[in-house]
Amino acid sequence: MTLLSVRDLRVWFPIQKGLFRRVVGHVRAVDGVTFEVNEGETVALVGESGCGKTTVGRAILRLVEPTSGEVRFLGENVADLDEKGLRKVRKNASMVFQDPMTSLDPRMRVIDIVAEGIDEHGLVKGQEERKRRVTELLERVELRGEHLTRYPHEFSGGQRQRIGIARALAVEPKLIICDEAVSALDLSIQAQVLNLLDDLKRELNLAYLFISHDLAVVRHIADRVFVMYLGVIVEEGPADALFSAPLHPYTQVLLASAPSVESRLGAAPLAGDVPSPANPPPGCRFHTRCPVKIARCSVEVPEPRKVRLQTVACHLVSPDAASQEGTSPTPGDASQEGESR
Ligand code: SF4
Repeated sequence: MTLLSVRDLRVWFPIQKGLFRRVVGHVRAVDGVTFEVNEGETVALVGESGCGKTTVGRAILRLVEPTSGEVRFLGENVADLDEKGLRKVRKNASMVFQDPMTSLDPRMRVIDIVAEGIDEHGLVKGQEERKRRVTELLERVELRGEHLTRYPHEFSGGQRQRIGIARALAVEPKLIICDEAVSALDLSIQAQVLNLLDDLKRELNLAYLFISHDLAVVRHIADRVFVMYLGVIVEEGPADALFSAPLHPYTQVLLASAPSVESRLGAAPLAGDVPSPANPPPGCRFHTRCPVKIARCSVEVPEPRKVRLQTVACHLVSPDAASQEGTSPTPGDASQEGESR
């Protein structure tokens, strides 16, 4: 069953200038993103900082207002919902944030942090049941009941993120949006938290939208991966296929630069910074940094095409090349097209 359906989502932020705050342009943080998350599935949204992936997560819960497009959660159009409807969405789709230190109120005890959603949605009756429920949640994330009355600063980074996960679980969600949920943790702690998330997924039939800049992290947890660059999806597919044979040059570079992911491609690290989403390059948005670009890349937007198990937006990746046994559909010899790089 489809839990979440995102169609052609755009989130543009106005750029205002002058005394009268005239709108002189837009930051196109998200510029036409489409994907689905099914029950019990982990979908990863990956890309460099500033590619728009966090804005997608926030737009799903209407923490920022979409400019256009459609977000359907459990069949309902999120844009049409009033405050009561939005509360229902936020009960069924909760969030785990990157930095557990800043996302947990340092003045609150663990019991009150974890019970925030329980209190807001009236999920228990009385203090005893509240305490029992929070204790159960802490045990689920491998913390102990004696932690109930402590404060966030008394915990390690990994433990604080477990508290954040317990808080997300408290509302009994169907979907958890994990926004860089393990990025602030040491590698060994990252692995423990990822294993915990994976166990919880199986035990509770949860779905995750896992937002991360790190392909090595999502490899361990994702069923499907969407790679985002400058507000658009450039490649998507089942995690196994995408990791074993990435097709888009951007995915290849991301994979090659992920320290714990073996890459057979040997792609060079990316040159330059991500261009401004206020003024994205024409044609393929990746052309200013692409190591294999050709002339048409700077004028013609590549349409997403199905190639093997992936969908890829790149002029050099063709289904024909992929259909030939033993022929790699990875971007290659641009001279075949008679164009200069
Ligand atoms: Fe590179 Fe061109 Fe493909 Fe874009 S369309 S990724 S610039 S080869």
